[in-house]
Amino acid sequence: MQLEKYSMGIGDRFAHQGRAQLQAIARAKSEGFDVVPVWNKSHREHLATQSVPGSVRKEADQAVQALSWDGSYYVDADHIGLQTVDLFMDSSDFFSIDVADAIGQRASEDDVKAFVDQNERYIGTLEIPNIAEAFETSREQVEGIANQFLRAVRQAGQIYRHIEGAKGRDGFVPEVSMDETDTPQTPVELFFILAAIANEGIPIQTIAPKFTGRFNKGVNYVGDVDQFGKEFEEDIAVIAYAVQEFGLPENLKLSVHSGSDKFSIYEPIHRAIQKFDAGLHLKTAGTTWLEELIGLALAGGDGLSLAKEIYRVSLDRFEELCGPYGAVIDIDSDCLPDVIDSWSGEAFAAALRHDPSCAQYNPHFRQLLHVAYKVAAEMGDRYLDALDRFETVIAENVMENIYERHLKRIFMVG
Ligand SMILES: [Zn+2]
Repeated sequence: MQLEKYSMGIGDRFAHQGRAQLQAIARAKSEGFDVVPVWNKSHREHLATQSVPGSVRKEADQAVQALSWDGSYYVDADHIGLQTVDLFMDSSDFFSIDVADAIGQRASEDDVKAFVDQNERYIGTLEIPNIAEAFETSREQVEGIANQFLRAVRQAGQIYRHIEGAKGRDGFVPEVSMDETDTPQTPVELFFILAAIANEGIPIQTIAPKFTGRFNKGVNYVGDVDQFGKEFEEDIAVIAYAVQEFGLPENLKLSVHSGSDKFSIYEPIHRAIQKFDAGLHLKTAGTTWLEELIGLALAGGDGLSLAKEIYRVSLDRFEELCGPYGAVIDIDSDCLPDVIDSWSGEAFAAALRHDPSCAQYNPHFRQLLHVAYKVAAEMGDRYLDALDRFETVIAENVMENIYERHLKRIFMVG
C-alpha cells in the first residue's frame, strides 16, 4: 500500500460529514489537483464521542460509494500506541504510531554506542543536498540525539511489527508521529531519527515531527514564519537525503499535524512542496465540527438555539473541557463573551468562522468550542438529529471550508 504524493487528513467527530468532506476533495480533483482523503479519529475522540473505530471505516466507505469516488482513500488510526492499536486493527489501513511520550527516556549505553558508531560518517560535517550550509555535528551531539529518541523509535518498531503481524507488510501505511511533545525537532535531529527508524526496519511513509512554533487547535500559527519556512524546507531536504542514504520508501513525506487553519504557514508550505516537488500529508484538526456549529447557527431557529446552548454549557465547563488540551490551546477567558442570547446566527457564525480579516472573529470563542465537542456528544440524538435536519446548510459550510481555506491554499495555488 503506497500513499499518494498529496493527502489530507480529515476528522469528523460525529461521522455525519464524510460526503461533504469528500466533495471538497472531489472538487479539487475535477480541477486537476489530486489529493487523497484520509479519515482520522483518535482513541481520545472515540472515548469522548462514545464511538468505535469501525464507525470511521463505515463512514468513509459510505461517502466513497455515495460520490462514486474511484480514487484511493484511507482510514487512519490516529495517534495509536501499544495500548490502543488493537482497537483499530480491522478498520484502519493507515496507522499514526505515536511515540511522543517515549521521547527523552534514556537509551542503554550499548544502544547509544552502537548507533553512534553506525552513523560515524555523519559526524563532523553533515552535508545535505539542497541545504546551502552544512551542519556541524559532534559525537556528543549524536549521543544526545540517541538518548533523546532511540527509545521512542524502538517503541515505534515494536508497534509497527505488531501491526505488520496482523495486516502484513503491504496492508497499511505506517506513520511515526512525534508532534505531541514540548520541544520541536531540528532538521539534524530529524535526520538521525530517520536513521534510527530505518535501523528499526519500519518502512515509514509519513513522519510527523514537531515543528518550531505553536500549533494551537483550529487557529492560526503562532511563531516565526520565516524560521518555520526555513526549517520546513530543510526537513524536506533531510527526508530526500535520508531516503537515499538509509533506503527508506521513496514516497516518504512530511505529515503536518493540527495543520488546519495555520494560514500564515500555508504559503511557505506550498512554496516548499512546489520547489522540491515533495509530497505532503496535511492533517486538519477536527475543525469540521466547528463548521457544523456554524451551519446550525446560520440555519436559525432551533439550530441557532442549540449552537448557543452548546456555547453556554462549554463556558460553564471551561476548566474540564480545556484541561486535556493545555498544550495546544491558548484561551484568554476575559475575551470570551458571557451572554450571547441576543446574537443572530450571522453574529455567531462570524465569531466562530476562521476569517482573521473579519472584525467579529474571536479566536478565544473558537478555541473553546473546538475542544467542546464532548458537550455535543453528551446531547446524543438531540445533536445528531439537528445535524440531519440542517444537513444542507451544514454540508455547504463543511465543503466550503475544506475547499476554499485548506485545499486551495496548500495544494492548488499556482
Ligand atoms: Zn498529532
